Amino acid sequence: MKDQHSSGQNGTDVTVIGLGPMGSALAEAFLGNGRSLTVWNRTPGKADALVAKGANRTTTVAEAVAASPVTIMCLNDYTTMYRVLDSAGGAFEGRTLVNLNSGTPAQARAAADWAAERDLDYLDGAIMVPPPLVGHPESVFLYGGPRDVFDQNRATLALLGDPRYLGADPGLAVLFNTALLAMMYATLNGFLHGAALVGSADVPAVEFAELALGWFMPVVLAPASLAEQAPNLDEGVYPGDLGTMEMNLNALEHIARTSVEQGVQSDLPRLMKELAEQAIALGHGAENYFAMFEVFKKSAAETGGSR
Ligand code: NAP
Repeated sequence: MKDQHSSGQNGTDVTVIGLGPMGSALAEAFLGNGRSLTVWNRTPGKADALVAKGANRTTTVAEAVAASPVTIMCLNDYTTMYRVLDSAGGAFEGRTLVNLNSGTPAQARAAADWAAERDLDYLDGAIMVPPPLVGHPESVFLYGGPRDVFDQNRATLALLGDPRYLGADPGLAVLFNTALLAMMYATLNGFLHGAALVGSADVPAVEFAELALGWFMPVVLAPASLAEQAPNLDEGVYPGDLGTMEMNLNALEHIARTSVEQGVQSDLPRLMKELAEQAIALGHGAENYFAMFEVFKKSAAETGGSR
C-alpha cells in the first residue's frame, strides 16, 4: 500500500476516467460532496457540465492520473481500460486505481497483476445500482483487493454509496456482480414468461403483475425464508419432507407442456425441467428443490448437461 498521496499543488482529491452515464454519475457525486475533481474522457465534450461545476479537465490520461491520489476508472470494459491506461506512462507511481467496469473474475485478477507490475495499488469493484442511484448511502458498491487499500480509500468510496469489502481476491467483486445479475435475469425471465403464459389467454400483463408479485415476494422470494435455507446449502442438507425434486419435476413438466399448448416459448421451462432431471439422476429425487444447488455447483460435463 502506498502512503496517502497528497494531491499537491494544483492537484485534486479524485480523478474519474470515463464519463459515460455511469462515470458522469460518479463524478457528480464527488463534486456534490465537495471533493475537488479531475476528469478525462475520450470524447472531451462529455466533461463540459462537470467543468462548469468546477471539475478540472485534462487533455491526457497521464495528467489525469497524476492529478489525484486515487483514480476511479469507469470505462466499458477491461480492454478499453488497458488501452486508455497504457498511454499514461509512469503517471501511476504512488497512485491508487479503483476500476469499476464490468467483466469477468479472470479479467479482474489479470488487471490486478497488471497493476502490481506497475507498483500501483488496485481495487476492483462493481456497481450494483443504475446511475441515478449513485451517491445514495444505501447504494451497494462491491470491492475486492488488498484490505488496507480499501480501508485507506473507504471514505472516498463511501461518497458513491455503501462500499462493501468482499475480500483480498480482486475477482470477487465481478464474481458477486455476475452472481447477482444471474439471479436478476432468472427472476425477470420467470416473470416475463409467466406474463406471456397468461397473456396467451388474453390476460393483460397488468393483471398478472398484481397477482404474481403479491404472491411471489412473500411466498417464494421471502428474504427470511431464503436466508433460512442458506445454512442448508452450505451443509448440503435438503430434507424432502414438505416436497421432493420428483414433485417439482412434475410441476416443471406441466409448465413446459402448457407453454407448448398455449403457443408460447417453451425453452425456459424445458431447460429448468432438464436441470431437475439432472438433479434426480445425481440421486436427489427424494430431496427438496434446493438440492438443485448440487447441480449448479458442477460443470455441465459432470451433470450430464449439454451446455
Ligand atoms: P459504457 O458505454 O459501458 O462506457 C462508456 C465509457 O467508455 C465512455 O467514457 C466511453 O468514452 C468509454 N469508451 C468506450 N470505448 C472506448 C475506447 N475505445 N477508448 C476510450 N474510451 C472508450 O457506459 P456506462 O453506462 O458509463 O458504463 C460504464 C461501466 O459501468 C460499464 O462497465 C458498465 O458495465 C458499468 N455499469 C453501468 C451501469 C449503468 O446502468 N449504466 C450500472 C452498473 C455498472 P466516450 O464517451 O468517448 O464514448
